[in-house]
Amino acid sequence: MRYVQNEEKVSLIGQNLTELQSISEQLGEKPFRGRQLYDWIYRKNIDNHNLMTNLPGDFKTKLSERYKVHPLVLLHHSESKQEPTKKFLFQTSSGHMIESVLMRVGNRSTICLSTQVGCAVDCQFCATAQMGFLKNLTSGEIVDQFSQIRSLTHEPVSNIVFMGMGEPFLNYKAVIQAADLLHQPDGINMGFGRITISTVGIVPKIRQYTAEAHRYKLAISLNGVSQEQRLEIMPISKVYPLSDLLTVAREYAAKSKKRLTIEYVLIEGLNDASEDAKTLKGLLQNIRCKLNLIPYNEIGSSFRRPSDDRINSFLTQLEDASFPVTVRRSKGTDIDAGCGQLAIKEKTIHV
Ligand code: SAH
Repeated sequence: MRYVQNEEKVSLIGQNLTELQSISEQLGEKPFRGRQLYDWIYRKNIDNHNLMTNLPGDFKTKLSERYKVHPLVLLHHSESKQEPTKKFLFQTSSGHMIESVLMRVGNRSTICLSTQVGCAVDCQFCATAQMGFLKNLTSGEIVDQFSQIRSLTHEPVSNIVFMGMGEPFLNYKAVIQAADLLHQPDGINMGFGRITISTVGIVPKIRQYTAEAHRYKLAISLNGVSQEQRLEIMPISKVYPLSDLLTVAREYAAKSKKRLTIEYVLIEGLNDASEDAKTLKGLLQNIRCKLNLIPYNEIGSSFRRPSDDRINSFLTQLEDASFPVTVRRSKGTDIDAGCGQLAIKEKTIHV
């Protein structure tokens, strides 16, 4: 049984300036009230109508009768004992649950946002895949993860990554709208280079993203150096083969001013041999990119994380690569907040 919030008010977070202006007009106000509302919810991060001091009382009453600020309800948050990493559990108005993560490394605070409830892509190594696909999030539900985490923690956030539950490019429109709202300089004001969208490699959408010349950073999860190897862990390669993916990656990298990120999950005995590192070096040599290696986070499947020795041998092979290489040590693995560990075991709330 699914718990659905019964009074279905429309939420304000997710509406852009033009939409907030027309909401104001529909409630009998001048459009500039929409700008004031925009300022409260995005720039000042205020969610209580009563604190929106420059709005007239009857407007606030009408607003609160028909609209709510947040599309999501925060149900729970937990903190890692190993690192300054927090995981947040939210519920959508349809009763579904999603997770988001806040990680602090040095003076950088990064929020990892979910874009879908579950995921349809079925990567064999990812916990989210085990949920199956349940729903696309709206742009409001994506932005609200950020807004609520910011209110709760009061931490300045330096980066946003679309790397939580779901495949961003299978919810393309909402993801771009969300990135645009997060970017608006008169609102939340995250610079283009501080927002990264990570895709499993949905080839036509990468092409569209390149053609539309979006300026958010792009990351592609490669995870294998040959079609056969990739197919073993990522069935999506059947639809979008490695050769096509590398072609669009090259096209994007040539056109974009930002360096493309290639993510590569290192799985023991599968794609972590020194030979694989050499092949990878060749595959990427003409693509303006940086390589981010992610040692596999175990999720109870048969895959294993390579030993530090194997990771180091892989890295050694890449020492003379034409692109920078980094290793992402996932944060918050003790609370299942690491890459690929986000999954809701119970999909809906029972009442
Ligand atoms: N669907 C998107 C974004 C979500 S996953 C994508 O595929 O890019 C974010 C990153 O975590 C991806 O690079 C993915 O390959 C990686 N990942 C998934 N499961 C993992 C696991 N168990 N351990 C380490 N990284 C994992």
